[in-house]
Amino acid sequence: MNDTIFGKIIRREIPAQIVYEDEDVLAFKDIAPQAPVHVLFIPKQVHVPTLDDLKPDQAALVGKLVLAAAEYARQEGFAENGYRVVMNCREDAGQTVYHIHLHLLAGAALGYFGAAG
Ligand code: 5GP
Repeated sequence: MNDTIFGKIIRREIPAQIVYEDEDVLAFKDIAPQAPVHVLFIPKQVHVPTLDDLKPDQAALVGKLVLAAAEYARQEGFAENGYRVVMNCREDAGQTVYHIHLHLLAGAALGYFGAAG
């Protein structure tokens, strides 16, 4: 059972601004955007809490998230200007929702990020 907030979004128990969906992937706008475009791509059928939990036979899941994000960037017209994808794993990376997700950030020149302090 996926008890995370993203599980609830997948099951339509809470609303989200969904921008893309196929058999395996759901994408929706981040509730607290860190860039003009900030969309989250998540697997729909399988609950994997962190990247560290990903099994070799689930590797295609991550590829599907990346391909869906790239397709969205082309469709929305910002692929040529560029974009960033990020996956946070556990506390030090700031992961807050324990269902793997890929952040797509775009729409402005993005600053570099790294260790705080
Ligand atoms: P993380 O920090 O785990 O890599 O990213 C989780 C992301 O989920 C955050 O950027 C946060 O703003 C977003 N988020 C958390 N709760 C919700 C929600 O209820 N709806 C949406 N659309 N995004 C959420």
